This record gives sequence, C-alpha cells and structure tokens, in this order.
Amino acid sequence: MRKKIIAANWKMNMTQSEAADFVATFLLEIGESTEVEVVILPPFTAIAAVNGALDQAQHIKVGAQNMHWERSGAFTGEISPAMLRDLFVRYVVLGHSERRTLFGETDEIVNRKVRAAHEAMLRPIVCVGETLEQRERGDVEKVLGTQLRGGLARLGAKELHETVIAYEPVWAIGTGKTATAEQAQEAHAFIRRTLGEISDDATADKIRIQYGGSVKPDNARTLMTQPDIDGALVGGASLDPRSFAQIVQGAQEE
Ligand code: PEP
Repeated sequence: MRKKIIAANWKMNMTQSEAADFVATFLLEIGESTEVEVVILPPFTAIAAVNGALDQAQHIKVGAQNMHWERSGAFTGEISPAMLRDLFVRYVVLGHSERRTLFGETDEIVNRKVRAAHEAMLRPIVCVGETLEQRERGDVEKVLGTQLRGGLARLGAKELHETVIAYEPVWAIGTGKTATAEQAQEAHAFIRRTLGEISDDATADKIRIQYGGSVKPDNARTLMTQPDIDGALVGGASLDPRSFAQIVQGAQEE
C-alpha cells in the first residue's frame, strides 16, 4: 500500500513571517496527525522559519524546490545537498518544468541532481510532464519515457523506491486547467509501466506518483481516487493554509 504524499510548492513566494503564519494556521486546520504524508516546500530563505513554526509537529515534513549536485565549491548562488540536510530538509523537488524551461535544466542535469540527492539521503520528487503542443502531437508517452529514463538513469531499486515522481502536464501548471482524472490516470499508469521497465514491477508498484497541475480543494478528491495517483504536488492552492488543508483532508478521505 502506497502512502499518499501531498506537497506544497510555494515557488518564489512567502517571507519568513508569512511562512510562520501559514504554518500556524495550517496546523490548526490539520490537527496533530495526518494519514497522508504532508511536505512543505518553501523557498530556501523560509526553510528555517517553517522548521521553527512546525516546532514539535513531526507529521509535517520540509523540503526544498531545487539544489545543486555538487557538495560545495565555486558555484555562486547555488545551494548544496549538505546545506539542505543541515536545515533538516527531507525532500527536494528536481526537474520542475519551470526549471527546465526558464533555467535550461536537461534530463542529464536532473539526473545528476537526483543521484546527488540520494547520496545525501534526501528524497527527490522528480517532475515530468508534456507541453500542450507535445500532447496535441500525440507525443505524451515519448516525452514522459525520455524524461523518466534520462532523469532516473543509474539508480538502484532502493533509490527508485525512495524517489517520488510528480506527473505535471505543463499545460495544467498555474493555468487553472486540470487534467481530467482519466487523462491523469492514463499518464500515471504509463509512468508506472515505464518504471517497471527501468527497474522491475515490484519496485514500480511501490513508487509514489503525484499529480500536479492546478490541483484545488474541489478537484483533489476525484484525482486521488485514481488507482495510480498517490498524491499531489500543489502550487497556487498551497499558498493558502485553509485551501491546502482541504486538499490534504480530501486525500485522507480516500
Ligand atoms: C506546480 O508548480 O508544481 C504546480 C502544480 O502549480 P499549480 O498547482 O499552481 O498549477
């Protein structure tokens, strides 16, 4: 049985005080335990503030939105895996479509980061997804297959098991257009089959695959009922503690 994982991708939003206020309200909404795994992904500058506000609330984990693959050195402006560990970070999002399109991240770069994350005992959330143009050309499986095989190259079964995949159709990110539950399930089933080819079926069966792309309180539950959807990566709707709490609660009802 795969435990659902719901993550809040705050992107370049939230000062330290806003982050602390978010956590205080979110904890009141969500209570002292959750049946699903909840991860907050603040910008680097608000990670310490989120940790401080979470205090004893061990049921909420903290992640980062990116990192460099090297341990240290002359990489001005970058953050290393060890620096994230130092901040008690457990998860790191890698290969988000905004990093791929705005910052030129290739599958090879994503793969370096994914391997560096595992070396540092961080769990990567690896994003894959097609553009609208690629979907209309009938290239969804080709694009997802290439991103998965490239981004996950040279990982062992244990590392794959500890990797989370986020299927995020680019046309659904921040647009208000969600994939239908059927479209998302079809892509997730393809991703799981491909993971089986990359490793083996038993490993693929244990890997969690999140859906991301305009997830909101009113569509989260239907998406979560699909057999291969194991959670959500939430952007816009995760900036409001009440709406993010409703998404978490919707996932718990499944
Ligand atoms: C994201 O950027 O990971 C995302 C899914 O954003 P949104 O929920 O705003 O579409």
